[in-house]
Amino acid sequence: MKVLVINSGSSSLKYQLIDMETEGVIAKGNCERIGIAGSKLTHKANDKELVVEQAMPDHNVAVALVLKALTDKEYGVIASMDEIDAVGHRVVASGEAFKKPTLVSEETMKVMEEIKDLAPLHNPAAIVGVKACLAAMPKTPMGLVFDTGFHFTMPEYAYMYAIDYKHYEQYKIRRYGAHGTSHKFVSQEAAKYLGKKPEELKIVTCHLGNGSSITAVNGGKCVDTSMGFTPLAGVPMGTRSGDIDYAAAEYLAKKEGMDVSEMLTYLNKKCGMAGVSGVSSDFRDLTAAAAQGNKRAQLALDMFSYSCKKYVGAYAAAMNGVDCIVFTAGVGENTECVRKDICENMQYLGLEIDLEKNAEKNNGKIRDITGKNSKVKVLIIPTNEELVIARETVDLL
Ligand code: ADP
Repeated sequence: MKVLVINSGSSSLKYQLIDMETEGVIAKGNCERIGIAGSKLTHKANDKELVVEQAMPDHNVAVALVLKALTDKEYGVIASMDEIDAVGHRVVASGEAFKKPTLVSEETMKVMEEIKDLAPLHNPAAIVGVKACLAAMPKTPMGLVFDTGFHFTMPEYAYMYAIDYKHYEQYKIRRYGAHGTSHKFVSQEAAKYLGKKPEELKIVTCHLGNGSSITAVNGGKCVDTSMGFTPLAGVPMGTRSGDIDYAAAEYLAKKEGMDVSEMLTYLNKKCGMAGVSGVSSDFRDLTAAAAQGNKRAQLALDMFSYSCKKYVGAYAAAMNGVDCIVFTAGVGENTECVRKDICENMQYLGLEIDLEKNAEKNNGKIRDITGKNSKVKVLIIPTNEELVIARETVDLL
């Protein structure tokens, strides 16, 4: 069985064709700069790469190009679209409308339209991606897999905000979290690696990338997560502020003459690592600048690690202990100093990492960086959100 996984961003579309018997990737690629000048498709299969530079005014054209690449004589991997048994679509926000992955139907697409303002950059793109795939493959079953899905096991006291309850009831304003497919995948992989059942473990999963979130997974279920109603909350990120006192935002908005939506654009796009350092949102640039003595780059890194450390401690408290900490995503898998700073001075938890193992280069495999005397396992696990989306799509069928 072959499943095509589609991840539509506001101006991008990433895809993977996965063979579900082996769970191996048959082909994968990315359409960049959809709707703006310089659109480009990069398609990889069988150790070959096809690059198509062609205008992609919208996601329909992008999907058509992806399907063309998949069936290309030289670079293709399937003879026709009939070989695609199902399509799994990543969707960022579900609200309370979808608590589980759902099959695409007229009804579900109507609800998708109703909730699209929950993630104004991402959900509309996902809708367009679904429609474009439906137009090209009208008979192929399709699933919607939500980033929020794994987090619906949070208890009410963890997901509620302390606002007037009627506004929760009326607008469903609450914590939803994000990166759920990643947190689910790495927590399950951690259990497998440790030879335990997920039910036996208390795990803190740290998905640290351009966007970052930290999740408490108790007995295989999410019990708390750092992102909130939107992915703006939690630890500071590449360009997002993370948690901030709203009164400070209001004070700044008045001083700078910003309205609410300008303020939110500022908090999402101009803050975080980029804002504090004045150097970059990218951790490779930040660590390079800090190594050369750039104090604000170092400050941004210190703020990031300190914030992550506090979430680890908070979730250890929430779960009455922690058996394993997992690092994943671009920063979690690659940035040695961040892992080191988060894990140092955690003796009170019985946590210690092996600094030499932590300094080894990423090899794309699970790495155990647990220190000799540590009671808490510390693992680096490459994430695979596409595989989770493919698996959940198959489960829907
Ligand atoms: P997102 O999916 O949220 O865009 P990623 O998980 O791809 O983000 O993480 C991107 C971040 O990972 C960047 O800040 C980047 O600097 C950092 N990073 C550090 N080292 C590497 C590396 N070797 N390869 C890729 N990303 C890296």
